[in-house]
Amino acid sequence: MSKNVAIVTGGSRGIGRAAALKLAKAGYAVVVNYTANATAADEVVSAIKGAGGEAVAVKGDVAQEADVLAIFAAAERLGPLKVLVNNAGVMDSQARLDEMSIARLTRIFDVNLTGAFLCAREAVKRMSMKHGGSGGAIVNLSSAAAVHGAPGFGVEYAASKGAIDLLTIGLGREVAAEGIRVNAVRPGIIDTDIHDSSGIPGRVKMMRDAIPMKREGSADEVADAILWLVSDQSSYVTGTIVAVAGGRC
Ligand code: NAP
Repeated sequence: MSKNVAIVTGGSRGIGRAAALKLAKAGYAVVVNYTANATAADEVVSAIKGAGGEAVAVKGDVAQEADVLAIFAAAERLGPLKVLVNNAGVMDSQARLDEMSIARLTRIFDVNLTGAFLCAREAVKRMSMKHGGSGGAIVNLSSAAAVHGAPGFGVEYAASKGAIDLLTIGLGREVAAEGIRVNAVRPGIIDTDIHDSSGIPGRVKMMRDAIPMKREGSADEVADAILWLVSDQSSYVTGTIVAVAGGRC
């Protein structure tokens, strides 16, 4: 019998990588999506297979509808889709709004927002009992920026994550009676490569003082919350956002 399938967008690095490894350990066949770094995605797949699990790396830009359809087609070849971790996301260099180009705004909203919506749409079509599916769980990646707005740093990134919160609340209610739970995690400062995009060397360490726990979080700590949100232990939880931020939001 085929395993239940989990798609992790942006599963090649950072939080997505940690979630992919934990989902495989929990028994899911995992689609490890990536957009550029095939070596990193292959390493995740090898680690999963080396531990006796099942995984496939699928290249695709979540902002492109055709790529999203290809990611979901790859999942269908593995088995029934039960989990989507809507994780792929990008940040840009530190900037005020009055310095932002249309190219920058378009990229952030296309990847962080339209990409997440497209993936959620395809997941609902396959998981919803209304469409003949057997239910499932979607976990979106929000950010503490959705609460504090990231002034002078990246309000467009913060706004894209604020919209993710509303996708979570609205879609969670929309499909609650169809067997799908939709939740989000709201990470604070997590030690991953994404901070390199800010153009501020050592940004993670610089932020420590502003965090009540006085330390950054790890990708594993965020992935643990994701795993809880897809598990039966959170069976009455939907349309909500779980902060994993050391007390910062
Ligand atoms: P990361 O280390 O930079 O990894 C990003 C992942 O997303 C990579 O696997 C990358 O693939 C993939 N990706 C980027 N653009 C993509 C696209 N257009 N289509 C498909 N995949 C794409 O990031 P992270 O820190 O783990 O962040 C993961 C999520 O958590 C993001 O949504 C981010 O906004 C959110 N978040 C992170 C933090 C933090 O402090 N780290 C805080 C709050 C929220 P390649 O390897 O191919 O480049």
